[in-house]
Amino acid sequence: MTMINRMKKRFALVLLVLPMLGLFSQPAAAGVRAFACEPEWGALLKELGGDRVSVYTATTAFQDPHHIQARPSLIAKLRRADLLVCTGSQLEIGWLPMLVRQAGNARVQPGQPGNFAATDHVTMLDKPVSVDRAQGDVHPGGNPHIQGNPHNMARVAKALADTLQQIDAEHAADYAARYADFDQRWQAAMQRWALQAAPLRGVKVVVHNKAWVYLMDWLGMKEVATLEAKPGVPPSAGHLSKVLAQLKSQPAKMAIRAAYQEGRADDWLAEHANIPAVVLPFTVGGTDAAGDLFGLYDDTIKQLLKGAQ
Ligand SMILES: [Zn+2]
Repeated sequence: MTMINRMKKRFALVLLVLPMLGLFSQPAAAGVRAFACEPEWGALLKELGGDRVSVYTATTAFQDPHHIQARPSLIAKLRRADLLVCTGSQLEIGWLPMLVRQAGNARVQPGQPGNFAATDHVTMLDKPVSVDRAQGDVHPGGNPHIQGNPHNMARVAKALADTLQQIDAEHAADYAARYADFDQRWQAAMQRWALQAAPLRGVKVVVHNKAWVYLMDWLGMKEVATLEAKPGVPPSAGHLSKVLAQLKSQPAKMAIRAAYQEGRADDWLAEHANIPAVVLPFTVGGTDAAGDLFGLYDDTIKQLLKGAQ
């Protein structure tokens, strides 16, 4: 036998054995195609789905999730999706219903297992007694910005893991194992965050808009003023001077806003009230340090502690 032939034979043997070792048995081009409306849900899908789920995230931390264009590229992505994961509670009312309609994908229509709304799985805060659109972007189901509290993330993770097991039943055991691993790491992280954030209890802050109730509730912080007099309506000069006057009698430690928000009003107020203007990631990707779900809360607490000094 020539050297070449021996090598050929050995190579053929390797080709035979490799699949048996499982080296070629990667899930065939990611089983579940998921479409996430906001980065926090995209990140959660990656945690819970691993290689089995290919995740497309429709928005970034630098976009206002209330106001997104239902672009053709988004419609095309949703048309092929097996699972749609959004915040719900009308956060996406301005763009998602049209997107779902235009995509014409039966798998992700409301009521289907492939249509998942995170706010269905947590206790909502700020439920308005009456809904009047003249009051701005009021959300009748309650405040949808639930990602402010990692305990909400834990509840959504459980429900989303159940959904993944349902729509990809063949790999249910994988999803269950991934969820158990995630939950263990998440519970440990929440204990760590509670300790780190202890000095924030009772700290008073000015918020740019009504997007922080869950964060305030989690950390025991107090919101004393809002820069947007009505949700979704940019702060006016008149309202800003009122807030500044109010801070004289009711001082705050800092003014907070999300990475996507325009900061001129915050900076003006911060300068005149002599407090720091703090930018929080708000979702995954909002700051360099908030690269995943764990980083989101790590950095949020870090920035708040720095602001409270
Ligand atoms: Zn809102």
